[in-house]
Amino acid sequence: MSPRAPSASGMIGDRGLVWFRRDLRASDHTALLHAARSCGAGVVGVFVISPGEWRRHDEACCKVEFWLRCLADLSSTLAGLNIPLLIEHAATPGDVPAAVLRAAARAGAGTLLFHNEYEVNEVRRDAAVERAAVAAGLAVKRFDDRVIVPPGAVKTNDGGWYTVFSPFRRKWYTVLAESMPTVGPTPRKQAAIAGLGPDAVPDRVDGFGSNVDPALWPAGEREATRRLEAFAAERIASYKDDRDFPGIDGTSSLSPYLAAGVISARRCLKAAMEANGGRFDSGGKGPVAWISELVWREFYNHLLVAFPRLCMHRPFKLDTDRIRWRDDEGLFDAWKRGMTGFPIVDAAMRQLAATGWMHNRLRMVAAMFLTKDLFIDWRRGERYFMQCLVDGDLASNNGGWQWSASTGTDAAPYFRIFNPSSQSDRYDPEGRFIRRWVPELAGVDSALLHDPARLPRGLFGGSAYPQPIVDRSATRAMVVREFKRVGAVPADTAEEE
Ligand SMILES: Cc1cc2nc3c(=O)[nH]c(=O)nc-3n(C[C@H](O)[C@H](O)[C@H](O)COP(=O)(O)OP(=O)(O)OC[C@H]3O[C@@H](n4cnc5c(N)ncnc54)[C@H](O)[C@@H]3O)c2cc1C
Repeated sequence: MSPRAPSASGMIGDRGLVWFRRDLRASDHTALLHAARSCGAGVVGVFVISPGEWRRHDEACCKVEFWLRCLADLSSTLAGLNIPLLIEHAATPGDVPAAVLRAAARAGAGTLLFHNEYEVNEVRRDAAVERAAVAAGLAVKRFDDRVIVPPGAVKTNDGGWYTVFSPFRRKWYTVLAESMPTVGPTPRKQAAIAGLGPDAVPDRVDGFGSNVDPALWPAGEREATRRLEAFAAERIASYKDDRDFPGIDGTSSLSPYLAAGVISARRCLKAAMEANGGRFDSGGKGPVAWISELVWREFYNHLLVAFPRLCMHRPFKLDTDRIRWRDDEGLFDAWKRGMTGFPIVDAAMRQLAATGWMHNRLRMVAAMFLTKDLFIDWRRGERYFMQCLVDGDLASNNGGWQWSASTGTDAAPYFRIFNPSSQSDRYDPEGRFIRRWVPELAGVDSALLHDPARLPRGLFGGSAYPQPIVDRSATRAMVVREFKRVGAVPADTAEEE
């Protein structure tokens, strides 16, 4: 097919500009595939380096660094397909539309294609970009691609949004069975575009220098595929049994790749189903449990669309907005530094700081500890996690924090409190994980490791390990009283797990 001649504005009607955001891949990318199949005059990509927006959203330095490496990998894959990736810069969120339009002009594109994002600021930004693009004469095509089943497609029988996970999942299974998504290929090589090559991808952005070792999170689609395949072949069968033990490598560690869109959720589902004889809601308990975690990811994205206040620091349970959280910088700081005197919490927080990642069981333990033991506002913890996590994602992070703080969608008919000692004893019985991250305690007997009150004090290997910074039983009474006061807990329903 020969390219159409440029119009008076310099745009070529059927040249596509694909705006990449948190979908840094070439394979199974709905917008890219659509462009490659329908834009006969070639396809160009663009990514906008947007530090003002990233700072405003507390994007972690290690995550930005990971994005840049994934972007470089994507750029070289796309170059092999004759799709040049342009890099534009926007100092503030308000500069993004102009940056995208600059790329469209450089590309001579007539159509802008991108995937929907669901956070409030991103929705507003995308609307502004769409308006500017249309005003400049571009056609705009948008697709739902972040989740397997688009938000809004899973509704109750009377058209409402689900607010509880289990019924959501049941309906999600029904919707999936009715229209199983297919996994798209990498586009075929396009005709070369004369005079336009890829821009250099920066290897750093000012203000986002990271201390996390990049070797922990190798970039790119090949690595994401390798992780998925290894997990599906070796570990998915035992996932249900192993997933809660931080000392075991029992989960996929795909979250940074899913959060940056380096691999699609559809592909993950497909791999799990292949490991499960084509089934998603029955069969092996490992694959079924893993698919269920993918559904949590879907659920939290649906909630963002249904309840935009979740993006605006508001709780899901509105009553809990009146809770008078404790303001204590010293306690908050000790929690961040992994110096609370509760070994399982400290090990978790140190893992987060060192690797940009924390095991799911421990995210719940650490979040529960901050909110129910230190009684510090969940929003402070949510923000700190976002500033540290290589997989930081507003929907899942907010969902996890609100679930843990009992301000969210947890459907338990009682007030849930994790006891760090029982959690530690149950999920790290030999203290393998604790000893790795809290080396001061390497020589301490396992039985004592789980009981902060009985931990021998003094110097361990030359370093002092702190006394417990809080008397749990005293705070617990205060927390339950305050939740009762605002009407968010029925009387006497607190249960320790
Ligand atoms: C307080 C708190 C904060 C969290 N913050 C984030 C976050 O910012 N980004 C993030 O991706 N996940 C977050 N999670 C969910 C979960 O902890 C991580 O997705 C998981 O630990 C990632 O490890 P994995 O890839 O090995 O997961 P696996 O167990 O292999 O699961 C596969 C994938 O399913 C998804 N998933 C798994 N569990 C959950 C869950 N509970 N909620 C939503 N999606 C899930 C993830 O995309 C994950 O990669 C948070 C959970 C809590 C309790």
